[in-house]
Amino acid sequence: MNGSLSCNAQNCLYNANGLCGASVIKVRGGNAESSAFTQCDSFAEKGLKNSLANMFNMNIQGEIKQAFTNTSIEMYPKIECDARNCVYNIGNVCSADYIQINGQTALSSTRTECSTFKK
Ligand code: SF4
Ligand code: SF4
Repeated sequence: MNGSLSCNAQNCLYNANGLCGASVIKVRGGNAESSAFTQCDSFAEKGLKNSLANMFNMNIQGEIKQAFTNTSIEMYPKIECDARNCVYNIGNVCSADYIQINGQTALSSTRTECSTFKK
Protein backbone atom coordinates (compact mmCIF):
# COMPACT_ATOMS: atom_id res chain seq x y z
CA MET A 1 0.00 0.00 0.00
CA ASN A 2 1.27 3.48 -0.86
CA GLY A 3 -1.58 5.40 0.64
CA SER A 4 -2.67 6.30 4.12
CA LEU A 5 -4.45 4.56 6.92
CA SER A 6 -6.52 5.72 9.83
CA CYS A 7 -7.66 3.60 12.71
CA ASN A 8 -9.93 4.27 15.66
CA ALA A 9 -8.89 1.21 17.72
CA GLN A 10 -7.67 3.35 20.56
CA ASN A 11 -6.83 0.39 22.81
CA CYS A 12 -4.23 -0.86 20.36
CA LEU A 13 -0.62 -0.32 21.27
CA TYR A 14 0.18 0.95 17.77
CA ASN A 15 -2.56 3.57 17.70
CA ALA A 16 -1.20 7.08 17.82
CA ASN A 17 -3.99 9.65 17.59
CA GLY A 18 -5.92 7.68 15.01
CA LEU A 19 -2.87 6.66 13.01
CA CYS A 20 -1.09 3.34 13.00
CA GLY A 21 2.49 3.27 14.24
CA ALA A 22 3.27 -0.28 13.11
CA SER A 23 5.59 -0.84 10.16
CA VAL A 24 3.66 -3.87 8.95
CA ILE A 25 0.10 -4.91 9.72
CA LYS A 26 -1.74 -8.06 8.82
CA VAL A 27 -5.38 -7.84 7.92
CA ARG A 28 -7.25 -11.10 7.97
CA GLY A 29 -10.31 -11.78 5.87
CA GLY A 30 -9.99 -15.14 4.09
CA ASN A 31 -13.37 -15.64 2.41
CA ALA A 32 -14.88 -12.40 3.74
CA GLU A 33 -17.80 -11.01 1.77
CA SER A 34 -17.99 -7.78 3.78
CA SER A 35 -15.98 -5.65 6.20
CA ALA A 36 -17.58 -7.38 9.16
CA PHE A 37 -15.59 -10.53 8.42
CA THR A 38 -12.22 -8.83 8.30
CA GLN A 39 -9.97 -7.91 11.19
CA CYS A 40 -6.61 -6.33 11.93
CA ASP A 41 -4.61 -9.24 13.20
CA SER A 42 -1.81 -6.94 14.37
CA PHE A 43 -3.93 -5.40 17.10
CA ALA A 44 -1.95 -5.57 20.36
CA GLU A 45 -3.53 -4.49 23.58
CA LYS A 46 -1.73 -1.64 25.34
CA GLY A 47 0.49 -2.65 28.26
CA LEU A 48 4.15 -2.92 29.12
CA LYS A 49 4.48 -6.57 28.16
CA ASN A 50 3.08 -5.93 24.68
CA SER A 51 5.08 -2.72 24.32
CA LEU A 52 8.32 -4.62 24.72
CA ALA A 53 7.22 -7.61 22.70
CA ASN A 54 6.09 -5.51 19.74
CA MET A 55 8.79 -2.87 19.70
CA PHE A 56 10.43 -4.36 16.60
CA ASN A 57 7.29 -3.54 14.57
CA MET A 58 7.18 0.14 15.51
CA ASN A 59 7.38 2.58 12.63
CA ILE A 60 9.57 5.04 14.48
CA GLN A 61 10.45 7.00 11.35
CA GLY A 62 6.79 7.37 10.44
CA GLU A 63 5.97 8.58 13.90
CA ILE A 64 8.68 11.20 13.82
CA LYS A 65 7.54 12.33 10.39
CA GLN A 66 4.00 12.63 11.72
CA ALA A 67 5.16 14.83 14.57
CA PHE A 68 6.22 17.44 12.04
CA THR A 69 3.20 17.30 9.76
CA ASN A 70 -0.03 17.57 11.65
CA THR A 71 -2.17 18.32 8.60
CA SER A 72 -1.59 15.09 6.73
CA ILE A 73 -1.25 11.42 7.53
CA GLU A 74 2.32 10.32 7.02
CA MET A 75 2.42 6.90 8.67
CA TYR A 76 2.02 4.17 6.12
CA PRO A 77 2.37 0.65 7.43
CA LYS A 78 2.79 -2.01 4.82
CA ILE A 79 -0.49 -3.87 4.76
CA GLU A 80 -0.51 -7.59 4.19
CA CYS A 81 -4.02 -8.93 3.76
CA ASP A 82 -5.56 -12.27 2.93
CA ALA A 83 -9.08 -10.99 2.17
CA ARG A 84 -8.99 -12.39 -1.34
CA ASN A 85 -12.46 -11.12 -2.29
CA CYS A 86 -11.54 -7.49 -1.77
CA VAL A 87 -10.87 -5.55 -4.99
CA TYR A 88 -7.87 -3.89 -3.36
CA ASN A 89 -6.14 -7.18 -2.61
CA ILE A 90 -3.30 -7.76 -5.04
CA GLY A 91 -1.19 -10.78 -4.22
CA ASN A 92 -2.12 -10.56 -0.53
CA VAL A 93 -1.00 -6.94 -0.27
CA CYS A 94 -3.42 -4.03 0.02
CA SER A 95 -3.34 -1.63 -2.94
CA ALA A 96 -5.92 0.92 -1.70
CA ASP A 97 -4.91 4.59 -1.49
CA TYR A 98 -6.60 4.91 1.86
CA ILE A 99 -7.93 2.46 4.37
CA GLN A 100 -9.94 2.84 7.54
CA ILE A 101 -9.66 0.28 10.33
CA ASN A 102 -12.52 0.38 12.81
CA GLY A 103 -12.42 -0.98 16.34
CA GLN A 104 -13.37 1.79 18.71
CA THR A 105 -14.11 -0.48 21.66
CA ALA A 106 -11.89 -3.40 20.61
CA LEU A 107 -9.81 -5.18 23.21
CA SER A 108 -8.62 -7.76 20.72
CA SER A 109 -8.29 -8.10 16.98
CA THR A 110 -11.64 -9.86 16.66
CA ARG A 111 -13.49 -6.59 17.29
CA THR A 112 -11.64 -4.72 14.57
CA GLU A 113 -12.48 -4.57 10.89
CA CYS A 114 -11.28 -3.03 7.66
CA SER A 115 -14.08 -0.68 6.61
CA THR A 116 -12.50 -0.15 3.22
CA PHE A 117 -13.17 -3.74 2.15
CA LYS A 118 -14.92 -3.67 -1.21
CA LYS A 119 -16.15 -6.61 -3.25
S1 SF4 B 1 -5.63 -2.06 15.19
FE1 SF4 B 1 -4.22 -2.47 13.48
S2 SF4 B 1 -4.34 -0.65 12.18
FE2 SF4 B 1 -5.15 -0.10 14.19
S3 SF4 B 1 -3.43 0.79 15.29
FE3 SF4 B 1 -3.55 -1.40 15.81
S4 SF4 B 1 -2.16 -2.44 14.39
FE4 SF4 B 1 -2.58 -0.40 13.56
S1 SF4 C 1 -9.01 -2.59 1.72
FE1 SF4 C 1 -9.21 -4.75 1.20
S2 SF4 C 1 -7.14 -5.45 0.64
FE2 SF4 C 1 -6.96 -3.52 1.80
S3 SF4 C 1 -6.67 -4.18 3.94
FE3 SF4 C 1 -8.85 -3.79 3.64
S4 SF4 C 1 -9.74 -5.81 3.13
FE4 SF4 C 1 -7.50 -5.93 2.81
